Parts: sequence; C-alpha cells; structure tokens
Amino acid sequence: MVEEALSHVAVPAQAPAGRSTDYFGELVFGRNVMRRYLDRETYEALIQTMEHGTPLTREVADGIAAGMKQWAVEHGADHYTHWFQPLTGGTAEKHDSFAEPDGRGGVLEEFSGKLLVQQEPDASSFPNGGIRNTFEARGYSAWDPASPAFIVGSTLCIPTVFIAYTGEALDYKTPLLRSLAAVDRAATEVCRYFDRNVTKVFSYLGWEQEYFLVDEALWAARPDLVLTGRTLMGHESAKNQQLEDHYFGAIPERVIEFMRDLEYESLRLGIPVKTRHNEVAPNQFELAPIYEEANLANDHNQLLMTIMNKIARRHNFRILLHEKPFKGVNGSGKHNNWSLGTDTGVNLLGPGKTPSENLQFITFLVNVMAAVYRHNGLLKASIMSATNAHRLGANEAPPAIISTFLGAQISAVLEKLEASRSDAAITFSAKNMFKMSGISHIPTLMLDNTDRNRTSPFAFTGNRFEFRAVGSSDNCADAMLTLNTAVAEQLTRFKEAVDRHIESGMKKEKAIYEELKKLIRECKPIHFDGNGYSDEWKAEAARRGLDCETSTPLIFDRYLTADSIRMFESTGVLNKVEIEARTEVKWETYTKKIQIEGRVLGDLTMNHIVPIASRYEAMLLDKVYKMAQIGGLDASADIDLLKKIQGHTAAIQTLTIEMIEARKKANRIENARAKAIAYHDTVEVYFEEIRRHIDKLEEIIDDQMWTLPKYRELLFIK
Ligand code: ADP
Ligand code: MG
Repeated sequence: MVEEALSHVAVPAQAPAGRSTDYFGELVFGRNVMRRYLDRETYEALIQTMEHGTPLTREVADGIAAGMKQWAVEHGADHYTHWFQPLTGGTAEKHDSFAEPDGRGGVLEEFSGKLLVQQEPDASSFPNGGIRNTFEARGYSAWDPASPAFIVGSTLCIPTVFIAYTGEALDYKTPLLRSLAAVDRAATEVCRYFDRNVTKVFSYLGWEQEYFLVDEALWAARPDLVLTGRTLMGHESAKNQQLEDHYFGAIPERVIEFMRDLEYESLRLGIPVKTRHNEVAPNQFELAPIYEEANLANDHNQLLMTIMNKIARRHNFRILLHEKPFKGVNGSGKHNNWSLGTDTGVNLLGPGKTPSENLQFITFLVNVMAAVYRHNGLLKASIMSATNAHRLGANEAPPAIISTFLGAQISAVLEKLEASRSDAAITFSAKNMFKMSGISHIPTLMLDNTDRNRTSPFAFTGNRFEFRAVGSSDNCADAMLTLNTAVAEQLTRFKEAVDRHIESGMKKEKAIYEELKKLIRECKPIHFDGNGYSDEWKAEAARRGLDCETSTPLIFDRYLTADSIRMFESTGVLNKVEIEARTEVKWETYTKKIQIEGRVLGDLTMNHIVPIASRYEAMLLDKVYKMAQIGGLDASADIDLLKKIQGHTAAIQTLTIEMIEARKKANRIENARAKAIAYHDTVEVYFEEIRRHIDKLEEIIDDQMWTLPKYRELLFIK
C-alpha cells in the first residue's frame, strides 16, 4: 500500500493556460448566455422572476426551456436533471434524456417548460421524518430561477426545491429561501429608519471549506475511512501538527495539481473560488470563494463538494469532508462568513462613514447578537450532527457552546453606548478610538479587523460575522436559515419596540438608542472575547445560562422548544409539522451514523485486530516455547508482552460483545428520539474504550503484521 501510494506522482492539471475570465461560468446558463439564447420578452420575464419572484407563464417557461436546451445540447449535454438537496445531506439527481418518442417510431429532442419548472421524482426513499408517510408518498421538485442551471459532464442540472405533495419542505433549499425572504422583509423595515431608498436586503455567505486529502491506495485499505469517513482507530503519529509546519506551508506538488483542476472546474461552473492554502493539520487544506448571495453560495458549496470527490480521484486522492477524520490533530470546519447588505450597496455589518450609517451598523450588530443570544441553543442544534459532535464538545475541540466575539474596539463601543445617558452619535477616529458626540459630527470609522479570535464559534471580523462552528460536511443551509430567521425575528421585535417609543412621542434616534441600550444589557451573556477552548469558559458559560448541553440527540430538542417553533412559524420559514419532521430526520440520521460506526468497528476488531494480535501471539508463544526447550534463557520480557497483548485482546473482545448487545437493545426502541439517545448513551460510549485497546496493540505489534495503514502514513504521504 505504501509503495503504491509512493508511486503516485503529480498528475498535471487539465486547466488551460490563460485567464480564468476566458472560462469563468462557461458551464452556467447565466445572464450572458440567456441574452444569446432567449428572445427579448422571455429574457425580460425571466429577469423579473429572478429578481422579484414574478410567476412565470407557461409560454415564458417553454421559451426558457427551449433556449436552455439548445445551449445545453451545444455544450455536449444529452440529459437533464432536477438537482435538489434532500435531507440526506447530499445532492440528488435523476437524469432524463432529452430524447422523447415522436409517436412514429422515432425520437425527438424534447424539453418543455413543464419539465423545466416542475417534476415529480419518485422520492419515497428520501428522509422525510414521517411527512410523506402520513399523507401521500409523493414529492415535487420545482425550479429555483434564482440559481442558474449548469452542466456537469453531459447533464444539464436545474437547481430545484423539493417539497411534499402537501407543500411541506423536504429539503434544505426551501426553508433557506423562505428565511432569506423573512430577513429581507424585517431588515428592510429597519433600514428604512436610516435610508428610505432601501427596498431589499440580501443575506450573503462566504464559506471556507476545509478538507483532508488521503492517498487513494491507503484510503482503500482503511474500511473505516471508506465507510464512515473517519478513522475509528489509529495510534497518534509520533509527529503530527506540533511543529505547526504545515499551516500556510508550501503546497505539495500533487496537491497543487489537484487544486488547479478543482479551481478550473469550479470557475467553469461559476463558483468564484479565490483562496487556497494548507490548513493546520498535516494533509489538511482549505478552499474559499468570494462571498455571494446565500442561496447561490450554498448551491455552489454543495456543487463543490460533489465535484471535489471526482477531481480528487484523477489525482489518486480521496477527499475527507468528515469533521474529525483523525484523532489528535485539528478537525475540519466550514466557516460561514455571513453579512446583510442593501440593494443600495451598503453592508449592514460594516461600519460606515456617517454617524447615521454607524448607528445603522451598531443597530444591526446588536440585533444579531440579541438573536444569537435568544436562540443560542437552537443555533447549536442547527450545526450539530454525529460527525460535527467530534469537533464540538469532544476532547481537544471547542466546547459545544455558542458565544459571540466582538473584539476590543466594538466591545468598548457597546459599553460606552450602554452607559451613555444622552442620545449622542457614535463616531470613530482614525486611530481606532471612538467617541460619542453630537449627531452632526461625521468622522470615518476604521475598524481594526486584525483583532481575531480563532476560538470563538461566532466571531465578528470587521465587516461580517463568521459562524465557525459549522461542520465541513454540512449543508450550510441549516446554519444559514436558522441564523437568518433568528435575525429576522429579532429585527421585527426591535422595529415594534422602536415604533412604540416613536408613537409615544420619542424622537426616532432616541428611540433607537433606548432599544439598543436595553438589548446590549440583555444579551451580555452571549458576548465572550476570551479563550473559548478553556475549561474556565465552560463553567462561566453555564453560570451565564448559555446552552451547555453536549449530547447531540438532546441538543436536537432545541428545535422543538416553544421559542423555536414561535420563531420559525412567525417568520413563515417552517411550520410545526416541518420542524418536527426535520428533527425526526436528525435523530434518525444520528442513529444510523453511530450504528454504521459501531458495525464497522465490530467488523474491524473481529476481522483485523484480533486475528493480527493472535498471529503475533502465536509467534511469541512459539519463541517462548522453544526458549524453554533450550533452557537457561530468560523469556520473561516476551511473557510480559504476551500478557499485555492477551489483556488488550480480551478487553476488545468483551467490549465488542457488550457493544453489540447495547446496539441490539437500542435497535428495539421505536421512538426516534429515544433510540438516538440510547445510541448516544449506551453504544457510542464503547467506541473510545475499544479504540484505546486497539491503539495500544498497534504500538506493540509487529509493524509487518499490522494490516491497516497507520496515521503516519495517512497523514504524511502525499
Ligand atoms: P479568513 O481566513 O481571514 O477568515 P478568507 O479570505 O479565507 O478569510 O475567507 C473569508 C471569506 O469571507 C471569503 O469567502 C470572503 O469572500 C468572505 N467575506 C468577506 N467579506 C464578507 C462579507 N461582508 N459578507 C460575507 N462574506 C464575506
Ligand atoms: Mg475565516
């Protein structure tokens, strides 16, 4: 395996020389292409739909479909698919050929507006949390014109939502779109205190995708990596990340060729990739695009995750998107850089040039904090999963507690604002100092955004918040829709409170100040600028009343609290049936992941570890026996070693049997929540214990006999 891995040399990238502008978006049915393939009326109608959600008429849809098909066929496509994001966490596609029988024994190339706009995939085996069992096993996919169609291989992919026959969302995109509409409505209202010209607020997302690369030959020899995406065993390599020599280091040649191919394919698909670098752990890397409107950005992230895998194989690599593939080195996250911006081009989370703009900035900043505070448990639930649990709350990881980091400068602004008794404006001087003064003074705010805290799960970074707790394999939608909804709800409450003050005769600025002061006081517990990884913080967070639950199945309960349901329902993002169904799916998925890990671990112990240990034991026994035959030799060291191996092997066998029993018991539980809890409390607890014994054996058993690639090979061969 090692020899094979070492024989893998850099595969030259296929990316052509020249400018990326030559091929950027060439596989996307974007505006430039639309202008060429649609007639004027159809084009204008489509733009109206994309920008204002105006319904499409049947004729327009037919016109778009015809243009889209012509373009796709010219670019080598012969199939099309509705591309959607079911609750499995991946993307789903079912390809149909453009060819249709012409009724005379031949075929015609067909693609009507009807097929473009809506389909009825037989999707009864996608997770639905019971929604479609109770009603009818039918689901619809419907085109999302806000995200352009694109070609992968020879298939035209049409981004769609996926909903039940009865209208409930069965995917990630539907509620994400609803949350974007909710935050747009609420934020636009608040913006209009400051600028009457604002008519729309966009939510932006810039994700940073972390991942590991592993040589394919080594990967294939690790059933745990193949089946679960992480190593269930493996002794720490003598060298791992302690020298910190990988982070931002020179990118290895095989990897850079892979990255160039990935960037080329991404750019062709319109994904505006920009940054690439080595991450902290050995063989860990990161890719980040330029931020986009959240719906499109999330589609692009989903698309990237699928093409990454394909491209990695060309380079004899496998991608690990698991949040914690290796114990003892950093895990992978997907930082979600998030902000709100107006259709007048103002970033609402960026400081402005005038006191009014700065008051608007502080208004949004404080409301975001208040939203995060109110729903900190729910936001944690939105990024929690069996796999991300290894990053949050486990050892050597940040705690499963949501808090916000602001940095010294903004913290000081809020303190001063809270203490002030006048309705003075917030101004900032160039030296990163700020002062409160009369509203007519207009200095520019310069923020020191180098003030970074890598241990905060939700950090303000100068002109945006960075939700860092999102997992590397996650669909960003859950985090983004929860955040946008929480912010929408909070902004609505804020607006109501300010309006009440104004109605009772208070001046607008003063009303805003009064409400901000109140919010700053109320949401203080969420603000934490210290070391989020420390044990002191865990204790402090509990004192502050933040959600400190660490059990994944129990964290999912946060979706079903009265506060959460009120938030989702009042904003129109999810109704109670949908929330219950989605939570059910989360419990089921959790259970299945742990169940698979348990099975793989059981198989590996019985098919690999115990047989290897027995073989080595037999060798030692033979030696000891022969030594005794000769006589006069001291076999005590070998006998000690035998005893050790015996001890570990016996423990592994006993624990594995106990784990299987626990699984059997848990499997008999019907209720999804109770089953997930049983898996968490009674099954998963065996994994670490069994692993500890296996890792001890790995240390003492003949390297030649050990069939599984070791950490030093998985992490350092490239
Ligand atoms: P860092 O590692 O310093 O956090 P990166 O450059 O790796 O920064 O990634 C930052 C991400 O944040 C990029 O995707 C970038 O486009 C995005 N971003 C920058 N400004 C904003 C903003 N106002 N709103 C949302 N995302 C943003
Ligand atoms: Mg970042």
